[in-house]
Order: sequence, then structure tokens, then C-alpha cells
Amino acid sequence: MATSTAAPYSDLIIGAAPPNRRRDMIDVRDPSTGKVLHSVPDGTVEDGLAAVAAAAAAFGPWRATSARERAEILRRCWELMVARRDEIAALISAENGKTLADARAEADYAAEFFRWYAEEAVRAAGHLGTSPGGTNNILVSYQPIGVAVLVTPWNFPAAMATRKIAPALAAGCAVVLKPAAETPLTSYLIARLCKEAGVPDGVINVVTTSGSGPVVRAMLHDDRVRALSFTGSTEVGRVLLREAADTVLKSSMELGGNAPFIVLDDADPDDAVEGLMVAKMRNGGQACTAANRVYVHRSLVEEVSGRLADRFARLVVGPGTDPATECGPLINPRAVAKVAALVESAVAAGARVLTGGERPDREGAFYAPTVLVDVPAHADIVREEIFGPVASIIAFDTDDEVVRAANDTHLGLAAYVYTSDLRRGLRMADELEAGMVAVNRGLVSDPAAPFGGVKQSGLGREGGAEGMREFMESKYIATSW
Ligand code: NAD
Repeated sequence: MATSTAAPYSDLIIGAAPPNRRRDMIDVRDPSTGKVLHSVPDGTVEDGLAAVAAAAAAFGPWRATSARERAEILRRCWELMVARRDEIAALISAENGKTLADARAEADYAAEFFRWYAEEAVRAAGHLGTSPGGTNNILVSYQPIGVAVLVTPWNFPAAMATRKIAPALAAGCAVVLKPAAETPLTSYLIARLCKEAGVPDGVINVVTTSGSGPVVRAMLHDDRVRALSFTGSTEVGRVLLREAADTVLKSSMELGGNAPFIVLDDADPDDAVEGLMVAKMRNGGQACTAANRVYVHRSLVEEVSGRLADRFARLVVGPGTDPATECGPLINPRAVAKVAALVESAVAAGARVLTGGERPDREGAFYAPTVLVDVPAHADIVREEIFGPVASIIAFDTDDEVVRAANDTHLGLAAYVYTSDLRRGLRMADELEAGMVAVNRGLVSDPAAPFGGVKQSGLGREGGAEGMREFMESKYIATSW
């Protein structure tokens, strides 16, 4: 049983056990100190199924509301998130460790999904056609799929939740959210704000658990559940796709990335370094879209790597909640050990450390911002998701060579290209095997755009008009008149 140190979070926890029932709890820790911030209920299979039952009961009345009614509630969710932005950001920063600037940006991005889907809710139009042979009319409408299970990671505890909740609710679905055990408090706060905004009881349910495997499996095998929306690692995504096969669930998968960041010979080095600071260092490198492999044209390697190393060396490392911090901790000591091992093996394979390459001498899950050059193409750090503040720079000579290298991975989420020739950049964007390409930008995410990956980076899209379709099914009616 955990000790609870931060009473202010207690009123966030909804669906907790009644006071007369003893239950296990999960410790939520501050990654910059390892100290327990708070504890939340450790949900069981029974809790998961109770949440499914609550969602199933709420689904009928919720789908019966008008699209306009749902839109107005979603709009109020956006307004409340905007009004409480600093509180949300402080909570994200406390449990995830990211800087306050990153946490505020996440709170804004997360809120925006409610505004976007408030606008989309009323536009789920179907269509009317005639069969080519003229025998009948074809009426197509879109209907909410039903109860959806949403499983989210710790790296964007607010945005990954709202990117699923908002389109699901807009479509008329009820949901069970299973957040990561590392960052459950933000999910509870969002669920609380949605309730205040008018979302009826049972439409959003939060189940926190340290036993994700059995709890999620039980929910996916329950016939009342009709969709799974998962964001997390490709490894867990594969497991859940297998589970979802048993009940033939509509599944949407936002999985891992291994984004190439390509600086062509005609790029402005200042712009490229600026973009790289965002693409690499947002959340201290813990983003699925993070630049994982930095391909720089040989003629610019010295200049770009030198400037980047200078910027990295000057970053203020510290607890995310300290306003002066520019690079917070990683999520936990396991993540630090993984990043350290990737750097060590890259160095053993021939990479040179320009800055960083070590754990700072302080408590907490920290790793120093690191720039590596001369990284061999076969190094593990080039093949695996780093998820930390390490930029691996690899030199290249021709456009064809860099496209081949960039596509030489089973993942395909995001990619970045810097060039002063937009035509060349767009041509390369076409050739890159990625669901999203940023040309002369370090940030690709936008609530109005379809976010998602190709190859083993995922199935389906979130955001944009596409995001709502993940929670709907078409109904075709054949008739003649
Ligand atoms: P993870 O796959 O370990 O966990 C994600 C979620 O799945 C968590 O809620 C976790 O508790 C749950 N989970 C873990 N094992 C499970 C199981 N056997 N059954 C059911 N649920 C299970 O990922 P993470 O470490 O939380 O997040 C980092 C990963 O997420 C990275 O690979 C990153 O690229 C990816 N990610 C992808 C996107 C995207 O949009 N494509 C966005 C953010 C993060």
C-alpha cells in the first residue's frame, strides 16, 4: 500500500473505491526526485469490466443526443481546459517531468482537440448515390461504433487522452480510458473537467492499473466493447492487435517512430538547428515524432553539429517544474539506463561525443543533452527509438542515398527535411516512407491534420476529419424509389 503525500490531488480521483473498501494503490512519482507525489487506485479486471458496463449503459443515451448538443459540451471542455491551463500544465510537469513550457504547450494542444471536434461533431455527413446499373439508391450514414477502450502512454498524458476522447465523444461513443500508470493524475483531471463541462456520468471512465495486460485483455474480450484506440510502443501495439483479433475489434494504433531529420546541402544551418532543437528536444526527446536520426549533408556536418552541441551544452537541466529548466528528467531510471546503453554502444561502434554522453551528478532520472557525430548506420541508436535527449548525427552525400537510409526501417511515423528549395523538399517528402513529413519545420503535430504512421508505426489516423471516422462505422441502406 502506497503512502500518499500530496493531498491536493485526492479530489481528482474519480471512480475510486468506496471508503469502506481497502484496495491496492499505485505510486505516482516525480521523475526528478523519485519521490511519491500521490497514489491512485490499482484497478483490477473487475474494475475494468465495471467501467465497460458503465460505458455500455451510458452509450445509448449519449448517442441519442444531437450532434449540436455534443458539440456544445465539447466546446465547454475546451473552454475549461483553456481556463485551467496552468493547473493542467503544472500537473503534467509534476508527474511526467517535462518542462513547464512543454507542459503548457501540451495543455494547449490537448485542449484544441475538444475545440476541433466540437466543430467536426456536426459535420459527420453521409451521402446518397445511385447504383451504376440504376437498380437502386445507395444511402450511407455514419454511426458511432459503440464503447471504445482507449489506452494511452505517459509521454503526452493530456494530449494523447484528448486526441482520443474528443473524436470518440463527438461521434457519439462512450469510452474507458486506461492511462499509463506513470501519469494517471492528468487523466483524472481531464475526466473531472469533462464532467464539469457537462459530459454525462459513464460516458468517460478512467481505469488506472499496474496490471495493464490482464485488465485491458478482459475489456477487449468483452462483447460490449467495439473499438480499441491505442497509443504506445509498437511492441505493445502488436500484442493488443492480437488480443483485438479475438473479438474482431476496430483498432487504431499510434505506435513508435524512428524519425529521420534530413538537412540537405542547400539548407540554412541556423534554421535547421532551430528546427532540430524542437524536433529533438521537445519533452527532452521523449516524443514519438522526435528526430531519432539526424542526417546532415557532409558539407554542413561540422557547422550543424558544432552549433547544435553548443546549444545542447547550454541547456539548463533540472526538474520540469522549475521555470528555469530547459531539459527535464526522463520518465524513470529504466529510461535513463536504456539511453545510456544506446550511447555507450554507439561510442563503442565508433561515434564521437561532442557534448554530454553521461548522467549528470544529481538525483532523479536525468541524462545530459548529448550530441554524437560519426554515428555508424548499423549502430543500435540508429535502429531503435532513443526516447531521450540524444542527437545522433550521420553524414550523407546524395539525396538518393539519404532517402534510402531514411526508409531503411520498419517504422514510418514522422520525417523532417530542411532545404532552401521547396520543390526539392516536397519531392523528397513524397519519397519518404512516413505518415507525416515536416518540410522546414521542427513540429508536425496539428489537431486539424491526420496524425499517424505507415509501416509498423500504426494503423489509422488521429486528428483532422479522419480522427472521428475511427469511432464510426458506415451504414449503407439499399432502396429504390
Ligand atoms: P507502452 O507501449 O509501454 O505503453 C503504452 C500504454 O500501454 C500504457 O498505458 C501501458 O500501461 C499500456 N500497456 C503496456 N503493456 C500493455 C499490455 N500488455 N496490454 C495492455 N496495455 C499495455 O508505451 P510508453 O512507454 O507508455 O510510451 C512510449 C511509446 O509510445 C513510444 O514507443 C512512443 O513512440 C509511442 N508513442 C506513439 C505516439 C503516436 O502517436 N504514434 C504518441 C506517443 C507515444
